[in-house]
Amino acid sequence: MPKNRCVFLDRDGVLNKDRPNYVYDPGHFEIIEGVPETLKALKQRGYLLIVVTNQAGIARGLYTREDMHRCHEYLQQQCGGAIDHFYYAPSHPSVSESLSRKPDSLLFEKAISRYNIDPGKSWMVGDRERDLIPAKKLGMATIIVGENQSDYADYKGNGLWEVLDIIIGYGQ
Ligand SMILES: [Mg+2]
Repeated sequence: MPKNRCVFLDRDGVLNKDRPNYVYDPGHFEIIEGVPETLKALKQRGYLLIVVTNQAGIARGLYTREDMHRCHEYLQQQCGGAIDHFYYAPSHPSVSESLSRKPDSLLFEKAISRYNIDPGKSWMVGDRERDLIPAKKLGMATIIVGENQSDYADYKGNGLWEVLDIIIGYGQ
């Protein structure tokens, strides 16, 4: 059976605007311009779309899993259900260590196994170096969006809307 191609996505700062003290209320969940269209276009080209997000505010007691799920339901509504799976790491080093939290790669490995993904034909889009480190370790191409720079980034874009052209241009 041929393996699947996937675009892995960080959440805060890639799909929605990041905020200083976590994003956990759908009322404050501001989807970045062009994101729904880009996700639909990637989906139409046969990519799985999987979000991998650190949500340490759960371990810190700032919000609950239910709050987070409500945000994800809202995002799915706005994106026509384009996202195949949300993986999240609720831990924070001050509360509990976890291999799920980026830059560790456990959640990526779970997704690769469950969805029969070929990392060599897959991408990670993040706005911080810690998003890209696990992807590089597993052999994916990486794109950083936003203001930050990283030596782990193969490509750089202003936002997700530019990612489509990079991925299509690469011909994978
Ligand atoms: Mg982020």
